[in-house]
Amino acid sequence: MTDCLFCKIRDGDIPGDIVFEDDHVLAFNDVNPQAPVHILIIPKKHISTINDLEDGDVQVMGKLFAAAKKIAHEKGVSEEGYRLVTNCNAGAGQTVFHIHMHLLAGRAMSWPPG
Ligand code: 5GP
Ligand code: ZN
Repeated sequence: MTDCLFCKIRDGDIPGDIVFEDDHVLAFNDVNPQAPVHILIIPKKHISTINDLEDGDVQVMGKLFAAAKKIAHEKGVSEEGYRLVTNCNAGAGQTVFHIHMHLLAGRAMSWPPG
């Protein structure tokens, strides 16, 4: 059995509050939301970090953006705006080592991020 938290959510071994799923992508609410809308969008394939992407993964990374667009529309935040964030490695704040895109919305976002 995998030690990866997000693979466990993908496999149904631990519960996830799933908001979107297709053959290649899964999205679920973040357990510790940093905004009124805070959804994690992952490739179903285990890839640890952006540094581990291979040529064949390019398509699935595009699908993460396509899922983000769809979810943002369904959540009604497309027009007001939303932020997509992917942290790579601990120095950038990555704590779960299965690539994920944060979709954050529902409050004003500042720049630069901390
Ligand atoms: P990172 O810090 O790696 O960019 O983001 C990891 C995210 O996963 C964090 O926002 C954290 O709240 C979230 N997270 C950690 N454990 C769980 C969990 O068991 N379930 C869900 N849904 N989210 C989690
Ligand atoms: Zn994984």
